[in-house]
Amino acid sequence: MNSLVNTATLAPSAATGARLPTLLSVVVPVFNEEGVVQHFHARMSRILEDIGCPAEIVFVDDGSSDGTVRDVQALREQDPRIALLSLSRNFGKEIALSAGIDHARGEVVVVIDVDLQDPPELIREFITKWQAGYDVVYGQRIERDGESATKKVTAFLFYRAMRKLSRVDIPADTGDFRLMSRRSVDALKLCREQHRFMKGLFAWVGFRQCAVRYHREARVAGTTKFNYWKLWNFALEGITSFSTAPLKVATYVGFLTAAVAFLYLLWIVGKTLLFGDPVQGYPSLMAVVLMLGGIQLVTIGILGEYVARMFDETKGRPLYLLKDLLPAQPEPGAAADLLGVAATTALADARVPVR
Ligand code: UDP
Ligand code: MG
Repeated sequence: MNSLVNTATLAPSAATGARLPTLLSVVVPVFNEEGVVQHFHARMSRILEDIGCPAEIVFVDDGSSDGTVRDVQALREQDPRIALLSLSRNFGKEIALSAGIDHARGEVVVVIDVDLQDPPELIREFITKWQAGYDVVYGQRIERDGESATKKVTAFLFYRAMRKLSRVDIPADTGDFRLMSRRSVDALKLCREQHRFMKGLFAWVGFRQCAVRYHREARVAGTTKFNYWKLWNFALEGITSFSTAPLKVATYVGFLTAAVAFLYLLWIVGKTLLFGDPVQGYPSLMAVVLMLGGIQLVTIGILGEYVARMFDETKGRPLYLLKDLLPAQPEPGAAADLLGVAATTALADARVPVR
């Protein structure tokens, strides 16, 4: 873990001039995409040749049950740049992506869907931004072709709600299509939580990020793997992984209801003491019910606060990641061996307190 921490935090800044990456990794999750893979490979190969740097295409088979694996293997025989990871079953796109990113070796890593909804031509522009010093360059959709009005509206609302609820600045209208520098990939690899909402994690790592706006096309072939039920669960995953707002709602509703219940209790007790009550037993019964109900709601609220904190702790994310470290300048005239000590301590300190 510590070696990862060091690379993620203390790697040199990403400003690379006009140099091309030493290796470009393209990570592509595939799930039952028979026939789509060839289209993707043909178009991607042209772009990779055009970019002209060494590259690898890491296909992650997410437990396909059709001829996807066969298709990729056939392509791999012609193209030595292709790697294939096969997951033991369908784990879902987020996990497939994580597996691909874990195995990508490139100096920069591009994540893209196989269905060519996100134009691979944009990768050239991504690399230009990386050369200008950006660590994460993400595609931001201006429009979506070939998708129903309901999907567009729900996606629009989801991204806005997510931005309101979460403290992490998750960019709106942004999918997984992006380029990441080696140090941001290493940082991402430090997040090993089970419930992985990748869009949130990509944003969580920070560093210098920028958007490239583009027009989202229709699928080249095949059909979407996401129905509304899956999308709803995906939205729940996003909100519960990156926000404790729902738990806080319980707290506030609890306290509010309890406060109203206690006021009502006082009112009933006061009224009975002053004027009596014609129904025997009613005031005492109400008093007990309201008091217990109020106490329970407040207690649930308090529990919610602790659960929210435990939830954050169990994710085990690094406390922070360093973007740059400029050690303190030695005082002029200080003894040479003292300088050595000062510089080493500064570096060591920067490495240790990550978790
Ligand atoms: N995908 C995956 N595992 C799944 C579902 C999808 O690896 O369980 C892949 C799929 O093959 C594609 C990408 O994720 O490369 C995006 O899927 P899709 O195009 O169906 O999603 P949409 O663009 O409709 O949101
Ligand atoms: Mg798609």
